[in-house]
Amino acid sequence: LTATEMLFLQEICSVAATNIDSTLKYGKNLKILANLQTLYDINQELANLNDFKDLTRKTLRSAVQAMGAQKANLMLLNRSTGKLEIKLVDGDIPEATKAGINCGDIQTKAFSIGEGNAGMAAKERRPIRVNHRSRIPQVGRNPVHCILSVPLLYGDEVIGVMNMTNKVNPIDPKHPLAPRTLDPLGLFTETDSQLALGLADQAAVNLHKARLYDAAVTDRLTGLKNTRYFDERMAKHLADVASSGGTVTLAITDLDHFKKFNDTWGHKVGDLVLSETAKRLKALAVSIPGAMAFRYGGEEFCLLFRNMTMDEAREHMDGWRIEIENMGLTHDDNDLNVTVSIGLSEYPTHCDRPEDLFITADAALYRAKGGGRNCIVCVDATQLKIEAA
Ligand code: GH3
Ligand code: MG
Ligand code: MG
Repeated sequence: LTATEMLFLQEICSVAATNIDSTLKYGKNLKILANLQTLYDINQELANLNDFKDLTRKTLRSAVQAMGAQKANLMLLNRSTGKLEIKLVDGDIPEATKAGINCGDIQTKAFSIGEGNAGMAAKERRPIRVNHRSRIPQVGRNPVHCILSVPLLYGDEVIGVMNMTNKVNPIDPKHPLAPRTLDPLGLFTETDSQLALGLADQAAVNLHKARLYDAAVTDRLTGLKNTRYFDERMAKHLADVASSGGTVTLAITDLDHFKKFNDTWGHKVGDLVLSETAKRLKALAVSIPGAMAFRYGGEEFCLLFRNMTMDEAREHMDGWRIEIENMGLTHDDNDLNVTVSIGLSEYPTHCDRPEDLFITADAALYRAKGGGRNCIVCVDATQLKIEAA
């Protein structure tokens, strides 16, 4: 087992441990059984999703529904500022506000540890439940009648807080779809508190999993996704072509004479060039819908495009090649000149089998190197057939 695989195994064990823990916590009555079902349902969905935000949005939704809460939010501790920041909201909140907060466009007030109800839950590492409006600091415009905050703990570490505010009236059987109205006399119960703790446990485990996964697929030097993620994405794109048609274009790029560059300027300067090169490739990928950049290996980067013509892909990649040629980096007043070679191929245009996409793009790169470097070569089907013959 590699170290990363060990970490993943540990993660799976910790999820199992959370479930056992939840079972022990909610051992007694029917209400508690219903809560267990809520936890179980959520956990079932976790197995195939890596997106922590999606998962946690579902967790919040479940909390809101199971408790009859009016609103819920999830705060994460920003390690560099030491403050709790709202990352996700759910419940009775205007849609535009909800969307703005959930995608990170709207920043709201951040809380210090110990500040407000959420800050207290983080400080004391336990649920804090207040059911008297007069004892709740009123922060926003909407009155808070009751509040429940539970810490997200991973091991001993507080990583965030989940908050629920206000209760709504029960569903009106005559109008089951009508919006539920605020119940100003509603209270958060001990059972709510226990359920919230279980949900917060899961959110914490998922957050940890998401961070671990992200670390496992991200290259430290450049911040680009690595080979592990590249393999996943390429397989996904190729499967999409098989099921819904279209094309996948792969560009493989390689810095020219980079060994000599390192020998001349040293590895530290080499690393700087790699991260500057990657930064520009990432900017290119971000500007193209559906495109994604990867660090494939040492000085090799890849870019995947979906449903792009060969001419467009070529134009984008050649633009980047020229950008790298003119990057204008210096070291001790010396100009650092670097160039890249690029190979391009498209499935199913240039190869019959999906597994040949990489091989053909690599063959194109090889030609670019042979053709003098600092250039781009697109494989076309006829050339390949000649090569195969
Ligand atoms: P070519 O034009 O044919 O690609 O020549 P090259 O020298 O670039 O090819 P080769 O594959 O022989 O060398 C790649 C070099 O990239 C070897 C290594 O020194 C350098 N390299 C790989 N990873 C890193 C890295 O993380 N940092 C630095 N500084 N250099 C790296
Ligand atoms: Mg190389
Ligand atoms: Mg090279």
